[in-house]
Amino acid sequence: MCRVLQLHDARALRKKDRAMSLGYGGDSPPASPSRREAAANKHKGGVERLMLSVRAKIGDALDTDGLPQEAAQLLAEAEALLRKGEQELAKPRLERIAAGIDAEDMFLGADEHAKRYLMHTFTDLDPDASAGHQATSPSRRVSDSISSPKASAKKALHAEGVAKLLEKAGHFDFDALSFAALPEVQDKPITTLGTYLLSSCGYISGLEEHGWVDCPPGATFEGRVARFLRELDRRYLAKAIYHSSAHATDVMATTCWFLRQPYFMQRTSLLDYTMSVVAGAMHDVGHPGRNNEYQKATMSELALTYNDQSVLENFHAATAFEILTQKEDCNWFVLLSRDFRLDGDAPEAEPVNLQKYVRRLLITIILGTDMAKHRNHQNDMLKLAEEETGSSTDLPHGQAALERKELLLQNIVHAADISNPTKPRKMMLEWTRRITLEFWAQATSVSAHE
Ligand SMILES: [Zn+2]
Repeated sequence: MCRVLQLHDARALRKKDRAMSLGYGGDSPPASPSRREAAANKHKGGVERLMLSVRAKIGDALDTDGLPQEAAQLLAEAEALLRKGEQELAKPRLERIAAGIDAEDMFLGADEHAKRYLMHTFTDLDPDASAGHQATSPSRRVSDSISSPKASAKKALHAEGVAKLLEKAGHFDFDALSFAALPEVQDKPITTLGTYLLSSCGYISGLEEHGWVDCPPGATFEGRVARFLRELDRRYLAKAIYHSSAHATDVMATTCWFLRQPYFMQRTSLLDYTMSVVAGAMHDVGHPGRNNEYQKATMSELALTYNDQSVLENFHAATAFEILTQKEDCNWFVLLSRDFRLDGDAPEAEPVNLQKYVRRLLITIILGTDMAKHRNHQNDMLKLAEEETGSSTDLPHGQAALERKELLLQNIVHAADISNPTKPRKMMLEWTRRITLEFWAQATSVSAHE
């Protein structure tokens, strides 16, 4: 097991790193059924919704095993036509957003009191301004203060918007919110980004080529990972204003940025990279928009199931593994090698069960996103930093190395999870707005419960 640690595959990662800088060159990920964020859905016309539903069904048909190539080609053409039509229909809405987001839109879901507080706190708007004083429209001012309209419009209005945004994937300022709002992406941001970060950049094929996975005839690791990510997209709930699939996308991208730093590249393998990005996708799946304190205070079903211990984190990890075990076409986990040997291993060396390794790693990372453990994480990292600045520069070996790597990966995803305040201002403010609204909704719910 511990030899997994010794795969400091920095060269492979750098190779992939170069591939990433070339932009989005892979096939389009499979479309998914229409589950959208409520805010986006609110603005969709009936025709747009209908077109999205049809496109999702075409996407499902394209995923069918054994589909004749000619039929696949025709379906892909039909999907492309629908996407083009959707973009045309979406243009006026996107132009309106680009010109200045209405205050009503910005604070969608907030009651009047919450809206006033949010406007006062996060914008230059005067909540008390009367309609007669809006020669400089409020929407214009909201837009000026919390978004970058021209940049947003360019990204959203051009067909190549997805590729353009993905050029930033792996960089700290990747805009997950704009990405998740693109018409081509909005019901499947996790699938789309995951396909780019893992498949298009060659990480998954690297795992297959080097024997990390054993695929029976008719199954591909890449196909199952894509279906799994799509299922995660479906399981993130629209009612969670902050803890949405867009948030998971942001965590995946920020995790990727951490792992591309030389310090981490020297200490992690191809499998660690892949699993950390997947953990980012899994880490809040099914989040109900109510935090652990709420679950415990209300003795919710989840709190009863997990005995008040990291309630949501246990739920997210369990949900993700349930998907794997209940949906065979999503189950990439079972394809991981159970007797993995490195090239050049001595014949007597014990093979590694990668399924055990990965399950432990994923659970450790997801449970590590519980904010109640934040202080422990800080202390652990301080201790690690002290050790590394000591006299010895040798990397640890054996069990100590395994534990150190788990600690690093756990902290990377945890840091990515709470990185919003460090992001560029426009993104930071939008994440802040969302988390505030979610807390507000929770407070309202607590009041109703009492
Ligand atoms: Zn999270």
